[in-house]
Amino acid sequence: MTTSRLVSERVGQFFIDDDRLEYTAFGGGDRWVVLLQSQLVPRTMHDRLGRVLAAAGMHVVTLDLLGHGRSDRPEDPKEYSVPAWAEQVVALLDHLGAEQAVVGGTSLEPAAADDRRARAGRRPPARPGAPRRRRPDARRGAGRGAPRGGPAPPRLSGHNGSVPLYRDEAVVLRTQKLGEADRIITLLTRRHGRVRAVAKGVRRTSSRFGARLEPFSHVDVQLAEARSLDVITQAETLEPYASRVGADYAAYTAGTVMLETAERLVTEDKEPAVQQYLLLVGALRAMCDAGRPPAQVLDAFLLRSLAVAGYAPSFDGCARCGLEGPHVAFNPSAGGMLCSDCRLPGSARPASETVRVLGALLSGDWATVGATEERHLREASTLVAAYLAWHLERGLKSLTHLQR
Ligand SMILES: [Zn+2]
Repeated sequence: MTTSRLVSERVGQFFIDDDRLEYTAFGGGDRWVVLLQSQLVPRTMHDRLGRVLAAAGMHVVTLDLLGHGRSDRPEDPKEYSVPAWAEQVVALLDHLGAEQAVVGGTSLEPAAADDRRARAGRRPPARPGAPRRRRPDARRGAGRGAPRGGPAPPRLSGHNGSVPLYRDEAVVLRTQKLGEADRIITLLTRRHGRVRAVAKGVRRTSSRFGARLEPFSHVDVQLAEARSLDVITQAETLEPYASRVGADYAAYTAGTVMLETAERLVTEDKEPAVQQYLLLVGALRAMCDAGRPPAQVLDAFLLRSLAVAGYAPSFDGCARCGLEGPHVAFNPSAGGMLCSDCRLPGSARPASETVRVLGALLSGDWATVGATEERHLREASTLVAAYLAWHLERGLKSLTHLQR
């Protein structure tokens, strides 16, 4: 089943009142299949089946019903009954915007027996291998019915089915705590620029959803529009840069400056900033995939993102009068190199090799960068930092932690 490797896998979540439900979606399209498992079965049981069905063109969703897997565990025993189960499936279909779906499950006979006992007011028998997190006090009427095939029940209104949704690729720039359980995630997206959105409930469970939304994560996200902050409802990891950058101190410190710079140079929320997005993804790729030295990737990124933001430095012609170089004076406030007539007091006098490598970093001439001596690269980094600090008006916090 090698084709199943090509299937996309997205983790999503939605809410019924205050209870959070998590699911995994495999594949895409309108042919929905919902797979459920009883309380006694591990939540990952359907993952392989989901991938195989998705590879055959179906849009498969494995839902963790309340009390199971990554979803919340309500105290109320009524949440563990057939009507509650049906409501959760209908709410899922509403959330997904699925008009109809095939709903299937496994290991249903014990669940049906549980349901009969629940209606008779009797406790289910103890079973070997039952999950540790079973609530001892709650009467477990774990009703897991067995609908097989056929259309889903009609959609309920009043869930989040009517909320406008959009999807985009993004890099996570920053996360902040919100309330007791939520996080605000600042994203730099491909099509919507900078977006600040809420990831609900990710701090109160051990959710895989939250783990996909760490700084540096390159993700495909689905968001629901809201009056203040949009809400992230699904996240698929495109590249696990968060763990890879986090495992390398030099990459982490350089990357942190990149994220902070990107957030500050993209000044308007939801204004497309595709070039900044591509520069950031390219820089993460250059560090993590191409193995380029983080300090060089950072300098190239800073010069280019400043250029994209309208602060292109000049390393050949005079930044004031345009006279062709090479020139010897560098001044961040003037925009780069200055000729002898335009030269300002206090300008730096970098080595000519340093000026050449600055131009190479800006244009992406990695052959020249690779052939440059370390001391000139270090001097170039100093000038890039001065240039950046001038244009952002104050030094970036993270620059002080950067080891040069
Ligand atoms: Zn000049």
